[in-house]
Amino acid sequence: MSYIQFLGAAGTVTGSKHLIKTYDSSGKPGFQILIDCGLFQGQKEWRERNWQDTPVPAREINAVVLTHAHLDHCGWIPRLVKEGFHGPIYATQPTIDLCSVVLPDSGHLQEEDAEFYNKRKVSKHHPALPLYTLKEAQDCLRFFKPVVVGQTTQLSPELMFRFVPAAHILGSCMAEVTLQTNGRSHRLLFTGDLGRVRDSRIAPGKVVHSGPQENETADVLVMESTYGNRQHPDTDPRPELARLIRETAERGGTVVVPAFAVERTQKFLFILKTLMETGQIPRLPVYCDSPMAIKAVEVFLKHSEEYTARAADLIKKYGSPLEWPGFTFALTSEQSKQINESRDPSIIVSSSGMVTGGRILHHMAQRLPDPKNLVIFIGFQAPGTRGAIIKSGAHEVKIFGAFVPIRAQIAALEQFSDHADPPEMLEWLRTFKNQPSTTYLVHGEPAAASQLRDRVQKELGWDVKVAEYMERVEVK
Ligand SMILES: [Zn+2]
Repeated sequence: MSYIQFLGAAGTVTGSKHLIKTYDSSGKPGFQILIDCGLFQGQKEWRERNWQDTPVPAREINAVVLTHAHLDHCGWIPRLVKEGFHGPIYATQPTIDLCSVVLPDSGHLQEEDAEFYNKRKVSKHHPALPLYTLKEAQDCLRFFKPVVVGQTTQLSPELMFRFVPAAHILGSCMAEVTLQTNGRSHRLLFTGDLGRVRDSRIAPGKVVHSGPQENETADVLVMESTYGNRQHPDTDPRPELARLIRETAERGGTVVVPAFAVERTQKFLFILKTLMETGQIPRLPVYCDSPMAIKAVEVFLKHSEEYTARAADLIKKYGSPLEWPGFTFALTSEQSKQINESRDPSIIVSSSGMVTGGRILHHMAQRLPDPKNLVIFIGFQAPGTRGAIIKSGAHEVKIFGAFVPIRAQIAALEQFSDHADPPEMLEWLRTFKNQPSTTYLVHGEPAAASQLRDRVQKELGWDVKVAEYMERVEVK
């Protein structure tokens, strides 16, 4: 019997990896594909799973269908290839362009971390090894195959798929998979991550079209639930953001913003530019300190077809963000060190967004002990990450093996999320042409997934289950 197996993003928000294994009518194994192939992040219990093999050998997986370029969806691909996978990886062109930036960067960070731990001898593994290297990440890019949104790709006699917009980040799509089994055709819809619906006032600065594709049909729906137990504030975050920045500048402090390098950073830079041009914040130097920021901005500029009218206007008026006066994109570690040493008020936007690695670690270690400074979180912080610890009001956080006191002001603005919240998800589900026989919730912490399950069951009367790690569900 053909089945779906949840190999990740079940019981947690990271490590998205859903296996579809098919059998023909005689019971002979058919095709095996992975929908997404993401990295586990956050708590050690999950991160350690990055080192485990897939339950089916990697070389026996025939293809990967990738919804978008966030690491928790694509970051395990180099490892899969390292373990013997050599099939096609289907994704949209913007997703491929972004992967060619984020995957090598991820390999680079893993090498840096391993090197660091070896130098300090703070890992219990000797020597500490990277999960994959920059070169291995670059090498896996040759397996990517661009797919046009809406176009059907036949994978095998029993399996085909097409992408439809998810409006989460640049290039992001849902995967509509059609599976023939037992003489029947089944539609399996994998949402990947779902973007927010419409309202540009309460979800400002989006650089992709709003709203996931409506009027879907599905026999089995596999849906994300990141924000399953929270609701985005329905206020415009910009006045508060402007006030926080002004107050920090007045007391001579620096604003540190951990931001996902893809999408969130670009969106935030657009908002800062708007706030400066409209006189709502002073023209402080803005440092975008992420080795891949320049490349990611270039990918965004290349795919202007995905902009909102607002983003298109901003670029028309002020040109490429890479040339905005006062905005510095740090490429080298030398430039990063200079930013770290600067004592004048400024705004530092750096990644990783959950403070799990990258240059943000140095900025946090440097700026957290001083009460003049401000740290603003503009994205989801998975439990167990340094970001979640700092955001929770802790007095100290461990960075590079040492405890750093937290005395800076800490703020969080939830409106910048690129994930739909429950009212938005329900609004989208109501557009479905049919009621799926089962909806499986993935990509959420247990509390978030179970609250969303109860809500969809109650409001729509659908059969909803929270997917469990390694659970197999048959497609009958
Ligand atoms: Zn995502």
